[in-house]
Amino acid sequence: MYKNRKTAVIICAGGIGERMDAGKPKQFIEIDGGNSIIRKTVDAFRSEAVRGLADIIVVTAPSGFEEETEKLVNDGGNEAFLRAEVITGGKERQDSVMNALRYLDGFGFEDDGIVLIHDGARPFVTAETIRNVAEKAFDEGAAIAAVPVKDTIRDRDLGTLDRSRLYSVQTPQGFRFRLIYDAARKASEDGFTGTDDGSLAERAGVMPVIVEGSYGNIKITTPEDLK
Ligand code: C5P
Repeated sequence: MYKNRKTAVIICAGGIGERMDAGKPKQFIEIDGGNSIIRKTVDAFRSEAVRGLADIIVVTAPSGFEEETEKLVNDGGNEAFLRAEVITGGKERQDSVMNALRYLDGFGFEDDGIVLIHDGARPFVTAETIRNVAEKAFDEGAAIAAVPVKDTIRDRDLGTLDRSRLYSVQTPQGFRFRLIYDAARKASEDGFTGTDDGSLAERAGVMPVIVEGSYGNIKITTPEDLK
């Protein structure tokens, strides 16, 4: 059971969302019921349904937007509420994740602890996906949420790929702390930028286990996604 280990959640919200063109970071946009995207995302990790899962939540904010992020993610919480800690993100998503991992290391987060890394722009993640990724990360060291692709995917040179083997990768992605911290540092030393955290673990020799997520766990990227 994952609760035998300390669990940290890193919510990546350090981007400014240029493709959204909203005049403010896209995670500040309000969606259903007046909650911001980032608040809804963070709340998914402290909901009743995942009660007790997170010991710490770290949110990466774009430089200059730390205070606003802090208010959005923590205001109005009751006593039982786990306050999220807001830190400054980096240039790219991978840099934001690195800042958060360094922050956890800074206060001695345990090597065998579990880290769940999630996009701040995926507010519709279900409790079931969160629990399943945490469970598998605990058992196997690395686990990622993904869904089978619905479209036929073609490689420009290799032609049509076998769809039954292909997945669209989502977050959360869960790892033992030491594994992902070492893998992230190695990637940064080598100048390697991955499109997700699982690819860094894979590069370090650990193939993440796939956990079937849900098609509703979309990443809000463009104005069309808001509909
Ligand atoms: O840009 P994209 O939608 O792929 O970003 C995925 C997530 O990573 C978003 O929630 C975004 O805020 C976050 N991010 C970050 N630091 C950056 C860039 C993006 O935390 N420098």
